Amino acid sequence: MKKIPAFVLALLLCNNIFSQSLSDMEKKVVAWINAHRSDTEKLLEEVVNINSGTFNLEGVRKTGDVFARELQKAGLQTEWVQLPDSLKRAGHLVATTKGNKGKKIFIIGHLDTVFEPAMPAGPFTRINDSTATGQGVNDMKGGDVIVVMALQALQAMDLLKDAAITVYFTGDEEESGKPTSVSRKDFIERAKNCDLALGFETAQGLNTIAIGRRGFSSWKLDVTAKTGHSAGIFGKGSGYGAIYETTRILNQFREQLSHEKYLTFNPGIIAGGSEMTYNDEKMQATVSGKTNIISPSVVVEGDLRFLTEKQREQARLNMKSIVSTKNLQGTSATISFTDGIPAMEPTKGNDALRLWVDKVSRDLGMGPANAGDPGSRGAGDISYVAKYLDCIDGLGASGKGAHAAGETINLKELPLLIQRAAILIYRLSNAK
Ligand SMILES: [Zn+2]
Repeated sequence: MKKIPAFVLALLLCNNIFSQSLSDMEKKVVAWINAHRSDTEKLLEEVVNINSGTFNLEGVRKTGDVFARELQKAGLQTEWVQLPDSLKRAGHLVATTKGNKGKKIFIIGHLDTVFEPAMPAGPFTRINDSTATGQGVNDMKGGDVIVVMALQALQAMDLLKDAAITVYFTGDEEESGKPTSVSRKDFIERAKNCDLALGFETAQGLNTIAIGRRGFSSWKLDVTAKTGHSAGIFGKGSGYGAIYETTRILNQFREQLSHEKYLTFNPGIIAGGSEMTYNDEKMQATVSGKTNIISPSVVVEGDLRFLTEKQREQARLNMKSIVSTKNLQGTSATISFTDGIPAMEPTKGNDALRLWVDKVSRDLGMGPANAGDPGSRGAGDISYVAKYLDCIDGLGASGKGAHAAGETINLKELPLLIQRAAILIYRLSNAK
């Protein structure tokens, strides 16, 4: 048998050879992306090397400046959305095209990372030819780079002049400015003017797309009780104390509610004793106690994660009912809930949008794009707009270890994900 020369083999293995379902124009877009791999990595290196922890406002703005420069290269108009000083956040980068053809597309990214300047520096470092590490390299500077390079590729073929695209990179996704009714006001308003939203948070491999994300709420349980000498505990006069009542409640939460799919609730802090002060804002407690004193008060704070608003409401009702019925003698308890991020419910519209990605992926030779397990992802910015328009997420960079030192990005898959994003945006901006 004749030996196949290595370069021919490499060409045969290249995914694009089999891309029979791409139009000639789409093939040119793919070729442009392949020709700009080193520019892509250079841009990624540049932004990863700017620390942009949510509270490093200057760093977040600097990262925004770099992406604004690159989005302008793609022909978009950029602006900076300021937030009131009281929120102590950097603000957001918005970039728009002027056209109104096809679907109106809302593209979501974020400029901040969980890594603040005081944490050990994690500069962009190539580990080998397919992996790099660095702060925010996949969550989500890699995703932002995918957006930018996809749009630059479309601009290079003059395909953006009639498109209706809004790119929205928030500056505080990891720790949103409070209240979110202020920090996400402009974000929600602009999304409402679009037909669909594409989230470029970390991809779970090449073949999974998020059509749902769980939301979260927080809760605070306050238990009070008669205090007294421990010798009288369990008796009619003294009752059971706040600590036994708290364990009754938490145990019933676990026994009655922990088997429901997509519902979780985690008590994150608990404090009780004979003397206690609790700081709500900092979630800090100082406690002292004695073994011979019945505890008069306990505080517990936790989260509640859910896939639908209905599930959230039902869980809250069930928790309230456990808290307020059959209290142990001599005790009383209340629970309060605070809204966090809403759920992105896995709707039919979201799944229909996923099918657009599925078709593009197959046409690129990347295989299918299946719906991921909604329980596998936390809440994200896209959840704020999910009830207004069709949404999918997880179109961003693939990698491992987000939110931890040593986070990585897969550099081999990066150009493929840019191709997928570019063809998807191109097709949607030409769709009826
Ligand atoms: Zn993220």
